Amino acid sequence: MENMINFGIDLGTTNSVIAKFVKGEVQVFTNPTDFGRNTLPSVIAFRKDRIFVGSKAQEFAEKDPKNVISRFKRKMGTSESYKIPVLNQSKSPIELSAQILKELKNFVQSGETLDSVVITIPASFDTIQSNATKEAGLQAGFKQVILLQEPIAASLAYANKKKDKELADGQWLVYDLGGGTFDVALVKIKEGEMKVLDHEGDNFLGGTDFDDEIVRKLIIPKLENAGNFSDLESQMTSASGKYNGKFLAYRFLAEKLKIALSSQTSEEINVQITDEEGNDIDEYISFSRSEFENIIKSSVDTTIEMVKKILVHNSLGAKDLQFVLMVGGSTFIPFVRKRVEEMLQIPVNCDIDPTTAVAIGAAYYAGTKPKSFEKNEKKKKNVSLKIRMAYGKASKEKEEYFAARIEGNTNGLTYRITREDGGFDTGLKPLSKQISEDLPLVENAYNFFKFVVYDTQNNIIETDAELIGINSGYGITGQPLPNDICLEVDDLELGRTRLELIFQKIQFYQSENNYKTTKQDTCKRF
Ligand code: ADP
Ligand code: MG
Repeated sequence: MENMINFGIDLGTTNSVIAKFVKGEVQVFTNPTDFGRNTLPSVIAFRKDRIFVGSKAQEFAEKDPKNVISRFKRKMGTSESYKIPVLNQSKSPIELSAQILKELKNFVQSGETLDSVVITIPASFDTIQSNATKEAGLQAGFKQVILLQEPIAASLAYANKKKDKELADGQWLVYDLGGGTFDVALVKIKEGEMKVLDHEGDNFLGGTDFDDEIVRKLIIPKLENAGNFSDLESQMTSASGKYNGKFLAYRFLAEKLKIALSSQTSEEINVQITDEEGNDIDEYISFSRSEFENIIKSSVDTTIEMVKKILVHNSLGAKDLQFVLMVGGSTFIPFVRKRVEEMLQIPVNCDIDPTTAVAIGAAYYAGTKPKSFEKNEKKKKNVSLKIRMAYGKASKEKEEYFAARIEGNTNGLTYRITREDGGFDTGLKPLSKQISEDLPLVENAYNFFKFVVYDTQNNIIETDAELIGINSGYGITGQPLPNDICLEVDDLELGRTRLELIFQKIQFYQSENNYKTTKQDTCKRF
């Protein structure tokens, strides 16, 4: 619908994705300059006279590591900045994120202007980090930026994909292990309304850490065996080290190795390096899946501890949960899936694409959020009839009550409401200052209705009426779900919304090995 935001962006530490809600479906955009890939690596390379973003930027990592910046999302909301020697200036995480967002705009080749967007943030982001993300959106040229927490976006993607009855009155966990962050959320559906009850997260735990560990614990020791090096790791990581810059290159190699080990039990990589005595090393080194599993085990177990903490906080046992919904590229790793299932004794659910789910959920949400600044522009539109409509944008009922108040002269005019699939038609009815209808809904689908006004000769009269859109089913129910944890406050002075804590988490203390609640869990609404 034209008056809705529709665009959703997953601004990820490692990968970013843009999607759009189009008439009940979500379309994920592909990168027109990267062989149709639908994720944009969140990497920026600065050259003297140009900037590369994404895969192209990664290509400069080995050649010119000092001018290639990645993982800056982890510094969002801090005062740290990144030195860009080639430009002789520094860039803040906000400016770098804005660059990613601008590049994502380029994925949309339809010529439409992107002025409103939903951008996702980890559940662990505080107000400062959230506001920094919003600022990045504004710097990228968006006039309206709405934030949505990633585990909620993933839940929306799942709920909109699976419209099965089994979801009724159920609860599950969203386990999101991406490149740079880990989030776990406890999500519940009751009477058609979905809510997040609790969440935990770590902003410094993800697949890129696994890549680092592969370099440190697997690749470097094997290189040291193959040639003569003294403390190769510090030679690679220190600015004045002989092998400075190589760490980044090996990290990319490590990622390829890791991804291969998700589908194979062993993989070889080719390493070419000259040792400190000038001997050229050009070898294929083999790595096994179990070697990899050993080095990530403690990180995976840390995530499982966070999940258990949520279960304890909420006095839940494994049998109380339907499944653990796996999200984030690192959940492709078979060991992660296996370990989570084994340790928690809850089935893992891998039904949604872990890399695009968050952007898809963001787009579903965007499809229900009106563009706020355009509304003001519309007010200026000179139409003789103004229609003020009221209806629920999501419903579990068979019919949705629709009411409208008409401003302007309605004498002799008629109206007609039709459902887009042709399954419903009010016929021509006399228009009065106030009208109402029960609109029948097709179950588990987005329903669109047209509201048209005619004069006595049956000519269409121009009004400001928008298409009526109602989602029948789960997902974005009556009260939009994200408001349950994601506090969006309209800051009238600044003319923006900002994020605050709406979900007051339970405070715990440990006593005699038992967790006890000190406060009631509260969920404020706006
Ligand atoms: P983020 O949300 O943090 O940007 P993503 O959800 O896109 O991250 O996940 C990116 C991470 O997933 C990267 O570390 C990447 O190496 C990892 N990844 C992607 N595909 C696979 C795979 N098949 N096996 C293992 N790891 C993978
Ligand atoms: Mg992510």
